[in-house]
Amino acid sequence: MIAADLQTAISQLRTLVGNADAIVPFTGAGISTECGIPDFRSPGGLWTKNRPIEFGDFLASQEMRDEAWRRRFAMEANFAKAKPGRGHRALASLYRAGKVPGLVTQNIDNLHQVSGFAPEHIVELHGNTTYAVCLECEQRYELSWVRQRFERAGERAPDCMCGGYIKTATVSFGQSMPAAAMERAEQLAGNCDLFLAIGSSLVVWPAAGFPLMAKRNGAALIIINREPTEFDDIADLVVHHDIGDVLDPFIAH
Ligand SMILES: [Zn+2]
Repeated sequence: MIAADLQTAISQLRTLVGNADAIVPFTGAGISTECGIPDFRSPGGLWTKNRPIEFGDFLASQEMRDEAWRRRFAMEANFAKAKPGRGHRALASLYRAGKVPGLVTQNIDNLHQVSGFAPEHIVELHGNTTYAVCLECEQRYELSWVRQRFERAGERAPDCMCGGYIKTATVSFGQSMPAAAMERAEQLAGNCDLFLAIGSSLVVWPAAGFPLMAKRNGAALIIINREPTEFDDIADLVVHHDIGDVLDPFIAH
C-alpha cells in the first residue's frame, strides 16, 4: 500500500512502529544524502562518471592502489564533515527505546555509529570507509596515518608492516561479501516483526534478499524511498517521500 501523502505515511508508520517489538532497519544511500554523502550509484553519481576500482585491479598494481587512495582522500571533505541526519537520529531513538535489536546497512559512512548505535549492533554489508585495514593481517589503520604516508611518499599508497596492502575497510566490487556480516544480517531479518527498508533501491544482491526473507518469516515490511522499488508490491506500507521529513517525528528529544 502506497501512502497517499506525508501525514498519512507518518500516522501509519507510527501505528506499525508502535505495534512492533523487534524492528530491523535496513538502510541505503538515501538516508545519508541529506548529510552531504553523495549516492555513488545514482544516475549522474560518481560511479557513472568514474568507474569504481575493482578489487582485482587494486591487488594487481601499485598505480591502482595509489589511484584508489587519491579518490578516497578527494572525498574526505564530504565524509569528515558529515553528521547524522534526521533518519539516523530517528533510528537511534528507536534503538535507545529498546525496539531495535540490530541494524543492517549498505552504507560505509559510519553515521549510524555516530548517531548512537553500538558497533556490535550494526551490520555493515559493504564495510566502512572511515578507517583502513591490512588485507593480510587485518591490522587497523587510521586514515590520517595513511594520508600522511601517502603524501610524504609523493602520492604512493603505503603498505602494512607485514607487507600486506592497506585498503579502506570497505567491500569493493569483486571482493567477497563478508560471511559473518551476511550471517548476522540473515539472523536479524529472520527474527524481526518489522523490517524497515530505508533509502535503498533494493536492487543490489544479495543484500536485497533480506526484505524478502523478513516478509517470508512473517514480519511487516515498510519501504521508505524516494523512488519505487521492486518490492513495493509486497510491502505493508510504501512511502515515496523525503526520508528526513518522514522520520523526523520519530526523533526523541
Ligand atoms: Zn598487515
